[in-house]
Amino acid sequence: MRSRRQIPAVSKVLEQIAAPDLPRPLVVQTIRQELAQTRRAKQLRGDPVEAVHTTLDQLRRSRLQPVINGTGIIIHTNLGRIPLAAQALNALLEAGRAYNNLEFDLNSGMRGGRGQYLERALATLCQAEAACVVNNCAAALVLIVHHFTQRKLEVIISRGELVQIGGGFRVGEILEAAGATLREVGATNKTSLVDYARAITAKTAMILKVHRSNFFMNGFVASPSTADLVKLARTKKIPIVEDIGSGAVTSSEEFGLREHEPTPIEALCAGVDLVCFSGDKLFGGPQAGIIAGKQRLISALKREPLFRALRCDKLIFAALQATAELHLANSGDTVPVSNFLRLTISELEQRAKKIVAQFHDSAVEAKLEPTKSQIGGGALPRSSIESIAIAFRSRKLSPDEIARRARNAVPPLVGHVANGAFRIDLRTILPAQDEQVASTLAAALQNSRDPM
Ligand SMILES: *Cc1c(COP(=O)(O)O)cnc(C)c1O
Repeated sequence: MRSRRQIPAVSKVLEQIAAPDLPRPLVVQTIRQELAQTRRAKQLRGDPVEAVHTTLDQLRRSRLQPVINGTGIIIHTNLGRIPLAAQALNALLEAGRAYNNLEFDLNSGMRGGRGQYLERALATLCQAEAACVVNNCAAALVLIVHHFTQRKLEVIISRGELVQIGGGFRVGEILEAAGATLREVGATNKTSLVDYARAITAKTAMILKVHRSNFFMNGFVASPSTADLVKLARTKKIPIVEDIGSGAVTSSEEFGLREHEPTPIEALCAGVDLVCFSGDKLFGGPQAGIIAGKQRLISALKREPLFRALRCDKLIFAALQATAELHLANSGDTVPVSNFLRLTISELEQRAKKIVAQFHDSAVEAKLEPTKSQIGGGALPRSSIESIAIAFRSRKLSPDEIARRARNAVPPLVGHVANGAFRIDLRTILPAQDEQVASTLAAALQNSRDPM
């Protein structure tokens, strides 16, 4: 005989749920949804309280919260790209806690220009006449293309540079959304200066060069240098802009990387009118799009009504200002992204050994293994850095189960499964998190409540 228990009332379930960390309306809504589902199923399957607890656990995990990055991918877009420098965090706190002079000139007591000091600092850093800041590098491209395509529509771009960056960001689509008509030139692997020259007509609005940041082509490959393109653009009197993406201000070779990442200074020295890059990739700051170049053009961009829609909040200005000052003071080392790049194997080994020692008597085997960290974020795709991982193996738990438990720990620890082990790369774990790594993982793996 099948028993058909009654579906309990929302209030009855609510009485039995303890979730003081979640806002009550969210808990109530979750219970309603759960009960409605039960009602649709016309039968009580299991304990509704248990089901609500499971759903609330999932809801709790979807809250924005700190995560320990054990993936070894330094610029990890899914994990918020990069941690900020201590100075940037302080600046966030100060800008958020009190009023500030965002648009107020303390010298004259009048309305002031938003981010004037920051723009000056960024211009100096890029050795540019001027600079401005928008929401991200995609917004920078939209603003630039929108500005230059008001009278003439065509943007000339090489077929080898119509790249896709991350989930759903295609340079070609962004340009079209900004109102441009693409004038694609060359082939995927080869574009010559003549290809560009032939494409220039009375309809040409600008030439755009996009850094192939997240992939590389090898073999029968060629494209003209920025300097040659600049020469062509100058003779034809059309603007030329370069999107370098990552915003490396320190030369990548200084970090011991073989690959070269273009810097804004190089692009501007080659003569481009404007260069744009992300604030939260190798630059090491908050999400922002930085545009640097000719004063006349930066002023014109800032006069665009669209600029108002793409502008950043005071918090971003504060964090970016602190980050830019670190670069200007040559203290770029204190920016976590640079720090991560510089960590040596022996430093990593020392830290890893300490963590491993804490699993001495554990049922889980923890072992040091060599690994390779990646830059990520669409930068330096060929450069991996020798690093140290800890591999966790257990006779009772599958690597996927260890990964799941690590993810569900507080704070969550994200790693990856390879060669029958759950692995975490020490390079992207903040030294201050080492203790947490050991304790949360040990607790998560010993948890007997979950089935082994
Ligand atoms: C990452 C990247 C972008 C997008 O930058 P966001 O700041 O994330 O908008 C654009 N162009 C290039 C070449 C990139 O590498």
